[in-house]
Amino acid sequence: MEKRIYNFSAGPGVLPEEVLLEAQKDFYSYKGEGLSVMEMSHRSKTYDDIIVTAEKDLRELLNISDDYAVLFLQGGATFQFSMVALNLMPTNNKADYINTGAWSKKAIKEAKRVGEVNVAATSEDSNFNYIPKQDALNLTENASYVHFTSNNTIFGTQFKTEPEVGNVTLVCDASSDILSKPIDVSKYGLIYAGAQKNMGPAGAALVIVKKSLLERSPNSLHTYLNYNTHAEKGSMYNTPPTYSIYIMGLVYKWLLKNGGLEAMQKVNETKAKLLYDTIDNSDGYYKGAAAIEDRSLMNVTFNLQSEELEKKFIAEATAKDFSGLKGHRSVGGIRASIYNAFPIKGVEELVEFMGEFKKNNE
Ligand SMILES: *Cc1c(COP(=O)(O)O)cnc(C)c1O
Repeated sequence: MEKRIYNFSAGPGVLPEEVLLEAQKDFYSYKGEGLSVMEMSHRSKTYDDIIVTAEKDLRELLNISDDYAVLFLQGGATFQFSMVALNLMPTNNKADYINTGAWSKKAIKEAKRVGEVNVAATSEDSNFNYIPKQDALNLTENASYVHFTSNNTIFGTQFKTEPEVGNVTLVCDASSDILSKPIDVSKYGLIYAGAQKNMGPAGAALVIVKKSLLERSPNSLHTYLNYNTHAEKGSMYNTPPTYSIYIMGLVYKWLLKNGGLEAMQKVNETKAKLLYDTIDNSDGYYKGAAAIEDRSLMNVTFNLQSEELEKKFIAEATAKDFSGLKGHRSVGGIRASIYNAFPIKGVEELVEFMGEFKKNNE
């Protein structure tokens, strides 16, 4: 078999090897049917089984009740910045957004086109290196919803628990930490996530929405922009991203087989601890970018003493087949994205490399 590198890419991110091999096995002729999933009618019995099973497995993983619709849509998480606001902001036309980074800002930008946006808190004052505390939230009365970004892919911060918003609808962009740990879906009105960080290939977005909220969507909305359209048609109003959904389904099976989200959380905590301990025990040689209590289990961000040293670090790491470690241009430094499918062995080897690099370049 061809070799695989250690892929620390922030997105599209690493997928489980077992999933890739399974897809490879069925690539040319799905279960001996003589055609690939890509070539199959989305209305066929075979494909219906694929999407229905994917939804069923996801519901099991996240313990999603029948009060919620599960949608597989196109347009990525970015399209949800618009859809959320268009569907859920009326009729109050007022929403609260917690601004914890570049993705939150993009969500805010679209919401402002629909109605009034109150930025309930922001950590922009220190380049988004922390998550605002509960008591810093300036929530408004009668807001249609409160929107937050559970994991900030670029800055490496993560909400450890949901913000408390009382009876107001909670909306979450969970693109980069969905399925990394159990969550209580019943606390949310809507959760959305692009597939390509932690659960599949690009091209699909997952939306989990409380059915009672679907009443809010104005009839004047374009058909395709209305959640009801997709909920009523089981994500089959038009051709869904069939292959992406198929791979997502394989990832869900892989998660179930490996003990579900509680087991995944333990593995994720172990992997992140290895890296953060290495950073914290380096006598300041490596400096964590995020506030300690808000550190992400998915995207570990850190800096070295100088940009020059960071360049050297990345060059030497790349030569050792550690790929995708360059930090986002807005923060610089190093970012190791260690999503669900990233193997623990890869983290152990990176940590070893960090030790050697420090010894050789102090
Ligand atoms: C990557 C990312 C997005 C954008 O996702 P697309 O699917 O490319 O639109 C939005 N939010 C978060 C938190 C992300 O990490």
